[in-house]
Amino acid sequence: MSDLSQHLKARIAADGPLTVADYMAECLLHPTQGYYTTRDPLGEAGDFTTSPEISQMFGEMIGLCLAQTWMSQGEPDQILLAELGPGRGTLMNDILRSTKSIDGFHSALKIHLIEASEPLRARQADALAEYDVTWHRQVTSLPDRPLYLVANEFFDALPIRQFIRSKGATWCERRIGWQDETLRFGLNDPQEIESLAGRLADTKTGDMVEICAAATSITQEIATRISAYGGAALFIDYGDWRSLGDTFQAISAHEKVPPLTTPGQADLTAHVDFEALSEAAKGCTVSKMIPQGVFLERLGITPRARKLALNLAGPALTSHVAAHRRLTHPKEMGNLFKVLSLTPRGQAAPPGLE
Ligand code: SAH
Repeated sequence: MSDLSQHLKARIAADGPLTVADYMAECLLHPTQGYYTTRDPLGEAGDFTTSPEISQMFGEMIGLCLAQTWMSQGEPDQILLAELGPGRGTLMNDILRSTKSIDGFHSALKIHLIEASEPLRARQADALAEYDVTWHRQVTSLPDRPLYLVANEFFDALPIRQFIRSKGATWCERRIGWQDETLRFGLNDPQEIESLAGRLADTKTGDMVEICAAATSITQEIATRISAYGGAALFIDYGDWRSLGDTFQAISAHEKVPPLTTPGQADLTAHVDFEALSEAAKGCTVSKMIPQGVFLERLGITPRARKLALNLAGPALTSHVAAHRRLTHPKEMGNLFKVLSLTPRGQAAPPGLE
């Protein structure tokens, strides 16, 4: 049995069955056994690949989007260019490379990264060696300045709780217990859940809904900062408007695996509820939720892809064309992934989200 399984067994024996959120938090971020705390999980040789790792074009489009927003907002000085969960630092590096020639942008900004994983902080430090970077554990410790922030595949890694609609206005929470020497799903007794009162009208007995408290509090914090100091936030993730159904999943070596069998060894995620993010951002103007493919097309990814293709041939050209398709096509990441922006109240959404 792994050390993390031993630890979970002992915790369940002491406190009773875990919520899915407790389990996710232990598996992903346990200080010595957690999935993110012990490895760099990205890339072909790892467990999953993200948009910035697929092509430089992704970060170029995001860079131009953020820089254009900064220009439209009157080019404020002393801004934060921030990223939540920056992985290998590839997206931030592409953002900075593609905005180098924009007058005054680099001299106005300071780079701030919010990252929990030490191995990934080291990767980010390598990728961004030519820049001055400050790391944080939480958004709450960011300086009080205009905030231009991006988060790609960050919110899907935050711990969720799952509830199944029971009789009347009650819900059973999904729990994880220990039985016959393995982790097993179970349900607690039905009870009324105040934060799910708004879901009684659109669910029926047996439906599952997911709540991500961490996503709500992080979005509230970002929205408070953007409405007080200015800036913009771009959230890009897989998910949809209003959670319904079980989206809790584990990925290992690019394949789905059962989420309870290898704690700490597989990536655990859930779809992002963009309605919940939108509601948490009350003080800001929140854009419509746009599919990633539409967003990237509006920002000009196809002309950019054609231009880059002029210098490519053979397998490099084939993989460049495949990368463009993967990012934008509705049957690949183009539709599953969505984009949402926050701007100060009354200010236009960033390009691609108007
Ligand atoms: N944005 C990157 C990586 C996505 S993987 C990309 O698109 O390639 C998720 C990232 O979020 C990792 O960097 C992980 O270490 C970080 N992360 C996960 N949970 C976190 C938390 N609670 N606080 C800070 N960072 C977290």
